[in-house]
Amino acid sequence: MTFDLSSLSSAERLLWFYGCRQPGHIDLEGIACDKGAQVIYRCMDGCAARLLSDGHQAVISVQATDNEGRRRFSLGHELAHWLNDARRGFSCSGDDIGPQNAEAVSVEAAANVFASQLILPDYMVTPWLQGRRMSLSLALELSNAFRASVTASAIKLTKKAEGEVCLVCHSMHGRRWFVRSKKWPFGFYPRTQLHQDTTAFELVFKGATGMSRPKVSPGSHWLSGDEFPVMDVEAQSMPLPDGTVLSMLTMADAARATRSRRS
Ligand SMILES: [Zn+2]
Repeated sequence: MTFDLSSLSSAERLLWFYGCRQPGHIDLEGIACDKGAQVIYRCMDGCAARLLSDGHQAVISVQATDNEGRRRFSLGHELAHWLNDARRGFSCSGDDIGPQNAEAVSVEAAANVFASQLILPDYMVTPWLQGRRMSLSLALELSNAFRASVTASAIKLTKKAEGEVCLVCHSMHGRRWFVRSKKWPFGFYPRTQLHQDTTAFELVFKGATGMSRPKVSPGSHWLSGDEFPVMDVEAQSMPLPDGTVLSMLTMADAARATRSRRS
């Protein structure tokens, strides 16, 4: 593995310093311990994780009832506060902690960016991705390989995608958040309410289970925007543990062909 170490983010440099060269090497509890922070898992009321410190040592508490991917992200987030932010107490709610909340300029968003790089470092993910086709199934594979949540893995894939990819999360009440790849056409947004002819609709409202197969649908089933979305979109959806549904939208070759035929 050869690259310019100066190109690494601060979280990646930390992993590199600790000798992490493969996903299995990433021992967040070990890093926390070496940095003077004890990690405990317990049932917590009202927050997903908490950092308490006297300025020299710290205790990081993580919600024990969360799944492994979520616990690891919460630990990475509190480690960011401990290593990078003023060494005081933080109580971070589930809304603060999450890979989908990494765009704003704030202490919480910065901690999410740091946690994302600790759990899915680019210098390991980029070679892992080579030659693989973008899909939600691939996000699931990535999450298993790195013990990350599917959401964090799917966001990573979307942000690294070279093609036109949009990741969107819906609940019964509508769109919760979305992330787009750099090439996603400007002016097109995933619909705020799910169309009834989508698998995501069946997952949210009809209790269907499991990951759907990728399906090509008219763009109007998924998109809204300044122009009427005439292109077709390939979509794949899966339910998340909190009752929401994650969908990955891509403009596949077939979709591109349709678009050029119609234009
Ligand atoms: Zn926080």
